[in-house]
Amino acid sequence: YAAKENKSGYAFFDISLSQRVRRRNMLELALRSALDHDSKGLWLTLQPQVDLQTEQIVGAEVLVRWDQAGPDEFVPLAEGSDLILLLGDWILEQSLRHLQELDQAGIHLPRLSINLSAAQLERQAVAERVHELVVHYGIDPRRLEMEITETALMSATEQVRENIRQFRMLGIGLALDDFGTGYSSLSLLKDWPVQVVKIDTSFVRAIGESEAAESIIRGILAMGRSMGLQVVAEGIETDEQAAFLVAEQCPLGQGYRYAKPLVLTLFMERWQQQNGITQDSK
Ligand code: C2E
Ligand code: MG
Ligand code: MG
Ligand code: MG
Repeated sequence: YAAKENKSGYAFFDISLSQRVRRRNMLELALRSALDHDSKGLWLTLQPQVDLQTEQIVGAEVLVRWDQAGPDEFVPLAEGSDLILLLGDWILEQSLRHLQELDQAGIHLPRLSINLSAAQLERQAVAERVHELVVHYGIDPRRLEMEITETALMSATEQVRENIRQFRMLGIGLALDDFGTGYSSLSLLKDWPVQVVKIDTSFVRAIGESEAAESIIRGILAMGRSMGLQVVAEGIETDEQAAFLVAEQCPLGQGYRYAKPLVLTLFMERWQQQNGITQDSK
């Protein structure tokens, strides 16, 4: 019977499954090798975060890139093993280097947001590591913000609590990413010292199409105001979305309408454009 089944439609699923497993294994090997070899093929981009009223850059989010796959594929893949700890550590160090390079270029970016994986909070003294790095690179930790997702806070092990406590002591901000998509977003705000919530792209994308999504955005903004939280809307692409958010007094935003994630040199150019005067024009 098994042989017969193999010759039927099941074979299709078998092949695609084994292809997926092969790709996964291949990418995992390649990523491990990259991290062992000076992180060849990996780099960081910075996506500007803007004040929605003035459209001025007030910060940036670090988004990792790899020449073999997109982050939606390789970040979860890394999260399936110890690779995420190596990758996460590389991202932290590079982020601080970027901030140092910006400082050296006279660009004093007020804040840099770094995505942390749940595994980094659960299995590592990641806050201690960040402390080491800020000392080494001479960065004021209050310029840093850690973006975490709901799943990272749901386990609430001793290690997670300790990391969050130390981030707070260092003055490093905590942002709740993909806000509104999880199961317990509101109770997390009650239990953890979060200063920033990031309205998930799915709500922003639905502006003009879904009254429910618009009401949820208004609700998050009202909550933000009454709790003294900063709110960042993610994935703003159109003028209509921007106009809605400005009218609703959403303070901060990010999205292709303002800027895509940019490599450091392009980010610098973008900053110089906005801030006009450069050394050369004197
Ligand atoms: P995220 O942290 O929620 O990041 C926001 C995603 O939205 C990014 O995708 C960004 O490029 C994308 N985006 C920004 N503006 C727009 C827009 O206007 N339209 C659309 N369609 N998309 C927009 P990206 O860079 O592909 O990253 C996807 C996810 O991968 C991130 O979601 C995050 O969960 C993860 N990730 C990316 N970089 C890192 C990292 O350095 N560390 C960790 N742990 N995870 C990362
Ligand atoms: Mg993020
Ligand atoms: Mg997000
Ligand atoms: Mg996301």
